[in-house]
Amino acid sequence: MIRENLHTHTLYCDGKNTAEEMILSAIEKSFTDIGFSGHSFTEFDTSYCMTETPEYRAEILSLKEKYKGKINVWLGLEKDYFSNEDRGAYDYIIGSVHYVLKNGQYIPVDESAETIKNAVENEYGGDYSLFIKDYYEEVSLIVKKTDCDIIGHFDLISKYFDDLGIEETESYLEIAFNALEKLIPEGKPFEINTGAIARGTKKLPYPSFKILKKINELEGKIIFSSDCHNKEYLDCYFEESLEIAKKAGFAARSVITDKGFIEIGLEEEL
Ligand SMILES: [Zn+2]
Ligand SMILES: [Zn+2]
Repeated sequence: MIRENLHTHTLYCDGKNTAEEMILSAIEKSFTDIGFSGHSFTEFDTSYCMTETPEYRAEILSLKEKYKGKINVWLGLEKDYFSNEDRGAYDYIIGSVHYVLKNGQYIPVDESAETIKNAVENEYGGDYSLFIKDYYEEVSLIVKKTDCDIIGHFDLISKYFDDLGIEETESYLEIAFNALEKLIPEGKPFEINTGAIARGTKKLPYPSFKILKKINELEGKIIFSSDCHNKEYLDCYFEESLEIAKKAGFAARSVITDKGFIEIGLEEEL
């Protein structure tokens, strides 16, 4: 049984707990593996990312030793599309788009509905479809840009769709599916990410069910993650997500091992 979460934030970035508190919570929840994925440095926005990357790496590596035999600890990084951080020092990378770059401005897609509303008014003349196209253009290049092992929250842009009154229309899905078609040949798993559920902004994980079904149809891979910022929520919505994945047609999920990422049956407990 492999029970793991590779998307975990700590006090080094915008998480609420220390790395050790996260590990202890993971042990309590019978996890076999926990991976840390601090936000990589972005110089245009330091409000949420790590500024002490060498200290982060040193602490995770020392905890890896300390908890050997009790739980596997992995050193990862959530690398933003616009970050220049070197991937060499990490066990794995989650590649994520958090900003759309337009007219020299980095527009955060997950900050608030208000931010998006203003940016679309000012930079796109109020046309959301152009904003969405730019977002998925970046997403379609995330593996090439970050050399990542995992594709982070594919449709993060949908976070405030309800507040903004945007629906998942055919034309929206066409744009998202286009990005999927470019990404799936890279062979990297897509996260089923429950982070926004723990934080109360969404009721279902990323990606949406229609997108998940399309990933399955195109023979893409999946990996479960809680994008955890608070130790209580390390396994938030995992059981429900497993059922969603089965309903979407998946039979396997990706996990990390000493030999890299492998796929195991979905029937294995999360
Ligand atoms: Zn993220
Ligand atoms: Zn994250």
